[in-house]
Amino acid sequence: MEKIKMTTPLVEMDGDEMTRILWKMIKDELLLPYIDLKTEYYDLGLEHRNETNDQVTVDSANATKKYGVAVKCATITPNAARMDEYHLKEMYKSPNGTIRAMLDGTVFRAPIVVKGIDPCVKNWKKPITLARHAYGDVYKNTEMIIPGPGKVELVYTAEDGTEQRELVHNYTGAGIAQGMHNLNASIESFARSCFNYALDTKQDLWFATKDTISKKYDHTFKDIFQEIYDAEYKDKFEAAGIEYFYTLIDDAVARVMKAEGGFIWACKNYDGDVMSDMVSSAFGSLAMMTSVLVSPHGYFEYEAAHGTVQRHYYKHLKGEETSTNSVATIFAWTGALRKRGELDGIDELCNFADRLEKATLQTIESGKMTKDLALITSIENPTVLNSKDFILAIREELEK
Ligand code: NAP
Ligand code: MG
Repeated sequence: MEKIKMTTPLVEMDGDEMTRILWKMIKDELLLPYIDLKTEYYDLGLEHRNETNDQVTVDSANATKKYGVAVKCATITPNAARMDEYHLKEMYKSPNGTIRAMLDGTVFRAPIVVKGIDPCVKNWKKPITLARHAYGDVYKNTEMIIPGPGKVELVYTAEDGTEQRELVHNYTGAGIAQGMHNLNASIESFARSCFNYALDTKQDLWFATKDTISKKYDHTFKDIFQEIYDAEYKDKFEAAGIEYFYTLIDDAVARVMKAEGGFIWACKNYDGDVMSDMVSSAFGSLAMMTSVLVSPHGYFEYEAAHGTVQRHYYKHLKGEETSTNSVATIFAWTGALRKRGELDGIDELCNFADRLEKATLQTIESGKMTKDLALITSIENPTVLNSKDFILAIREELEK
């Protein structure tokens, strides 16, 4: 069989620990036999980040700007323990943080739905994709403990020195106060990423805030989304047969529980933090979740939502058997290959991505799975496979 040809390289960001082991197995068993794989390789493994003073992370983000599509393996974010373990010159920042700051994006996470791994919410039939704004609000706040009577004010001083004041509260006793902010430019890019992703995946977009109570702060989010929708996206949404729907956050929560899924739920930073954990755990597992960073400039970076699975890696180093779930990493590759295929007009690449995803799901549905899924599946007597055998079982299914 002739291998599928590619025209533009994918930006390949290799990573750490157990996911680095899975990365190579996936390439060797599931990709290289079928595709004449073209990638520009960046080794984001912690050792190489240390050798390059983290320049490799910056280079990989710049390459993503050049080519448009990247696929990333999970990476270690160093802490004190890692400084010793890897003899690091510096406590480097999270690669995801560095890449996100350079590509200016929104992260979309969606559960991978498979028969036998059932959501706890029984009417959820299709995935719910969470889009979380990743800038500002309570994550960049300023807080104060108010020791006793007195007043707290918000003061804005313009560049020409003029002041604008708002009373927060006249305290008669001790209390607390908090100031937070956001930026129109950041909200605008969040909105465009969400609208683009909805068009890209042909799903409705829901957005919710508490604009009835927060008449300036949350209302600005609502207004910016609406203005951008009306000016740039309304016609495209109508042509694609999808809808943009705004409602109050409490109404959205109630509707999500009653819905059957199949839409994107855009959330402000705090709502997205809380709701994405609820949605993902209700759907089953972080290893059964796709994650993609979409930038408003049209760059895409696909990754797994989980970490490097350190505990399994140490077992692997001791020669013990591991049963690590590679589904999210496989789907990072299929997402990136499909996007590359779409951009370059290579149908075979898109079809291959579809087939590999289908083979992965069919493997699980036939009862062959890793230990994490075996613990939660409704399939009776599942076959628990080790990390390598699970990938080989997918290959067998793919060959069919
Ligand atoms: P983790 O890698 O997400 O793993 C935590 C636990 O979740 C594992 O011990 C395992 O549970 C389970 N798990 C996660 N992924 C799994 C998979 N694919 N298959 C089976 N089980 C899975 O988090 P961590 O071990 O706390 O973090 C390790 C490193 O990852 C850290 O250095 C952190 O900085 C990094 N990290 C990177 C990213 C990223 O690059 N996107 C994200 C998060 C964390 P059991 O042990 O019970 O089997
Ligand atoms: Mg959280």
